[in-house]
This record gives sequence, structure tokens and C-alpha cells, in this order.
Amino acid sequence: MISQSLVKEFQRLLGKEQVFLEETDRATYSYDAAVLEPVMPAIVLRPGTSEELGQMVRLCHENSLPLTVRGAGTNLSGGSIPGRGGAVVLTTALNQILEINEADLYAVVQPGVITAKLAAAVEAKGLFYPPDPGSMAVSTLGGNVAENAGGLRGLKYGVTRDYIMGLTFFVATGESVKTGSRTVKCVSGYNLAALLVGSEGTLGVISEITLKLIPLPAAPLATPATATCIPPSSPTAATGKSGPGSRPPWTPSSKRPWNWAGRSPANTASVRPKPASWKKSSERAP
Ligand SMILES: Cc1cc2nc3c(=O)[nH]c(=O)nc-3n(C[C@H](O)[C@H](O)[C@H](O)COP(=O)(O)OP(=O)(O)OC[C@H]3O[C@@H](n4cnc5c(N)ncnc54)[C@H](O)[C@@H]3O)c2cc1C
Repeated sequence: MISQSLVKEFQRLLGKEQVFLEETDRATYSYDAAVLEPVMPAIVLRPGTSEELGQMVRLCHENSLPLTVRGAGTNLSGGSIPGRGGAVVLTTALNQILEINEADLYAVVQPGVITAKLAAAVEAKGLFYPPDPGSMAVSTLGGNVAENAGGLRGLKYGVTRDYIMGLTFFVATGESVKTGSRTVKCVSGYNLAALLVGSEGTLGVISEITLKLIPLPAAPLATPATATCIPPSSPTAATGKSGPGSRPPWTPSSKRPWNWAGRSPANTASVRPKPASWKKSSERAP
């Protein structure tokens, strides 16, 4: 049960409209994309600045109120389901791209920036932010860092971890910690940013993220590809043409009536090497 005096403190800090107490509002933030039991928070808070975020973390700490950070709530691990009777802290109003530095190839963002929004903003400047979780149209960069998110491009370009140059975060007491740098050469000191990546909000509340950018690749980022398996006896194989009716209906490979006789001599030769004693029929003894 949250005290009325603490509610008033939050309202004074954030403004009444950024403090949610109605059951319907709280129910909205009682679950995320994980298939887990919802847990009702006592209060939902939406700070609009980094300073408000820090003071709010401190207030929660001083009043022993469990705090759970939430971006878009798309994580699949229950990380943004609150502790019972605790507070949910939304980062959605902390959604500013603070800097895109084209010369030094980095961007500085607030944690509530939508992943796809950053990707589009840097692409407009000929730069590339590769991490592409399937949820990037709605997920936040703070959530991406806390989950070390990555998508299909990860195979070639890596995941969120590979693009973190620096972080600013609040520890549980509300003190701010800045780690990392905007320069490529940053080799001394503890790599605290690496600890925060994948920590699912358990080690601190991220308030600012410095991300590495790379030049936009010249080639298209995706190429549609189709794979076909056409029996050699099909009209398509024989004529090389495709079109309606030119391909037989799909059959599983175990049931395909391969017509080896229909193969060209060259193909047959490559598939079934002839024994050394093999002779053409004209050369064989009658
Ligand atoms: C349709 C769909 C497709 C998806 N595809 C992918 C995919 O391809 N790859 C992939 O990796 N994941 C994927 N996910 C999972 C999810 O989208 C990612 O984990 C994403 O990074 C979560 O971002 P979010 O803003 O929704 O974070 P949330 O779900 O709100 O939070 C995730 C975690 O981060 C913490 N957190 C959020 N903000 C902060 C902050 N500022 N400071 C500290 N901690 C914070 C939360 O407490 C929570 O533990 C997918 C999910 C869905 C629903």
C-alpha cells in the first residue's frame, strides 16, 4: 500500500497527469509480452526528464517502494512485470534523440526512443544503426540495451551490445553513473556499460545511451530470395520457362517421381559416373 504523502510527492515532482493510480491504468502495466501472470503495480509514473527520473528513483528508494522500469513492454521474459505493490516507471516520455554525430559516428539518445525512429533518423544522414529486433517499430532503445536485443542483421552486424559506447544510469539510490565515452579509444576504467547490457533493469535505470553508428552500406539491406525444387522432367526444367501450369504440384522429396531418363546426357553423366567398361550401344558386341 502506497502512502498518500508519497503519492503527493510524486505528483509534485512529475505533475498530476504523469502519476497514474486508476485501476484501469495500473492494469495496463501489470503485464508485458511474456506469457506470465500479471502483477498489479500500486502506481505508474512517467517522468519527462532525466532529472525527474533520478529524483523519482531516489524517492522510491527512500520509501522502500520496489521500482520496475518499462519501455514498450515487448520483452518476452517478464522483465517489466512489476513487483507486487511496487511502482512501474515508464520511459516513453524520455524519447529524444539528443545528438547524431556524423563526423564521429555516434548517436546520443534517451532510453524511450523507439528503435526504428533512430534507425530512420540516422539513415537519413547516410548512417546505419544495425540492431533490428523484430519489435523495432515499437521497442525502445532502453529496453533493447536491457535485453541486449538483436535481430536478423545480428548475423552480420552483431547485436545491441556491439553498438554501446556509453551509458548514463541511476543506481537504486538515485545517484547517477556515467560510463563509457563518445570516442572509439576508450580503454581504461571499468566497463560498467557491459554489465548493464542484458541486465533487464536489475542494476540501474538507464537515462542516456551513446550508440555507435556505421556508414550506410551501399548495397540493398535485404534481397528477396526464392528457392525452388523442380523435378528435371517438369516442363519448367525442360523448357527453362516458367508460368502458370508449367510446374507440377508440390510433392515431398520422398515421393517425387524423378524421371532420370528425362535428364540431359550431360546431367546424367555428372550424376551417375559411367564405369570404365561402359560402351555405347553401337560399340557393343551384338
Ligand atoms: C513481436 C516481437 C518481436 C520481437 N523480436 C525480437 C527480436 O527479434 N530480437 C530480440 O532480441 N527481441 C525481440 N523481442 C523482444 C523485445 O522486443 C526486446 O527484448 C526489446 O528489446 C524490448 O524493448 P522494450 O522497449 O519493449 O522493453 P521492455 O519490454 O519495456 O523492457 C525490457 C526490459 O528492459 C528493462 N528496461 C527498459 N527500459 C529500461 C531502462 N531505461 N533502464 C533499465 N532497464 C530498462 C525492463 O525493466 C525490462 O526488464 C520481440 C518481442 C516481440 C513482442
